[in-house]
Amino acid sequence: MKNALITGATKGIGLETARQLAKKGFRVFITGRNEDKLQQAKNILQADGLTIETLLLDVSDEKSITAAAHTFAALHTKLDVLINNAAILLKADNRLATDAAALFEETMRTNVHGPLRVTQALLPYMNTPARIINISSAGGSMSEPVGGWSPAYCVSKTALNSITRQLAAELASRKIAVNAVHPGWVKTDMGGSSAPRSIEKGAETPVWLASAAAQELTGSFFMDKKAMDW
Ligand code: NDP
Repeated sequence: MKNALITGATKGIGLETARQLAKKGFRVFITGRNEDKLQQAKNILQADGLTIETLLLDVSDEKSITAAAHTFAALHTKLDVLINNAAILLKADNRLATDAAALFEETMRTNVHGPLRVTQALLPYMNTPARIINISSAGGSMSEPVGGWSPAYCVSKTALNSITRQLAAELASRKIAVNAVHPGWVKTDMGGSSAPRSIEKGAETPVWLASAAAQELTGSFFMDKKAMDW
């Protein structure tokens, strides 16, 4: 049985990815920053007849990352798939030129430093081969037009894309594939009710990468199972 750990899996694309991977027979660890929400998410999946494990993990908190890695280590198992899904998009994220420095810092701490630190902390427990999936956004693409929306969030996803490429190169010799995914514009709390895409569709490419994609596929940015421009 393969193990998968998903950050920010209390709702949205993370929760749905957990559901789909558990249905495929993965041992799934859902993680989140709030114990109550984590338990609620577990209850939702258990009501579907799925077996799910939880791990408290606030990706913006160094102590929480270290504690989660220790808890995982104590299980004496290996991780096959790490999905760095947790992210924030703050309402006040409007203008890079004038927004408060704290907004940029919080966004970068959660969306960039978070996935990198979680990856570093869990790498000692990753299998060979294994796979890391960073949930990014087309908003971070350097080849898309700059859209004038949530600039700090977009910069954070550009940085996450760059981290993805660097880690893919560094971890190739350990046979750890590293990719980024744009899930599309998805109807979640973050995506909003006008988003055209279902949560099930948003989880499709991360689930494909985790369960079916060739191990040789590394260092790419995917949408709908196809590589897109960085
Ligand atoms: P949601 O806002 O619905 O869910 C985000 C999840 O991340 C929640 O579980 C939230 O937990 C968690 N989270 C936030 N901060 C932290 C933290 N510090 N530590 C741990 N967990 C945290 O977002 P989506 O499901 O829409 O987004 C999932 C991913 O997809 C994100 O990376 C997002 O950037 C990306 N994406 C989404 C798009 C969309 O249209 N929805 C488009 C492009 C990319 P809590 O419940 O505690 O808040």
